[in-house]
Amino acid sequence: MSRAATEDGEAVLRAYVDSLAARARPVRVVEKRGVWHQTLADRALRVLTLNGQRRYLSHYVTTLGHTIYVPETWSAWPAWDRYLVLRHELVHVAQFERWTAPGMVLLYGLLPFPVGLAWCRARLEWEAYAETLRVTAEVYGRDAAWDPSLHDEIVGRFTGPDYAWMWPFERAVRRWIADCLASLDDDARR
Ligand SMILES: [Zn+2]
Repeated sequence: MSRAATEDGEAVLRAYVDSLAARARPVRVVEKRGVWHQTLADRALRVLTLNGQRRYLSHYVTTLGHTIYVPETWSAWPAWDRYLVLRHELVHVAQFERWTAPGMVLLYGLLPFPVGLAWCRARLEWEAYAETLRVTAEVYGRDAAWDPSLHDEIVGRFTGPDYAWMWPFERAVRRWIADCLASLDDDARR
């Protein structure tokens, strides 16, 4: 049985946001619009991706250190979707704790290239998208995590302009997804 069928998404989301704020190093959820460095990031991304990424402020969630910046459309998203995205973002919070902020700037932003072959960014994002698949199965059920349209969307994130073509090798990304799903089934059997 999926959690979305049996639990109240709003209540789960509220409890999760509270648990983030109650961590030893609190994690805050903040609106992206109006934050100067996020406006700057939006402009830089438009230039870098030749306008391929125009929805950074309006549709994308971004984690920097212990702050999760959410877009202006955030409050209209279904509660379970917001919960799912926050779980993905918490993987990035843990990465900031593991690699430190300067480390993340290097790994996420620059190595080996900022555009096209951003292997480190792709691996950091993959760790978070594996969590997306895991939580999708938990919240919406196994079929939702196995839905080919979700896989296409994830592949597009890696191979397209959203993250500046971070890893434009569709077969590799599909293999990561297949391996992740296989391990979810293994876990479920245990
Ligand atoms: Zn991410």
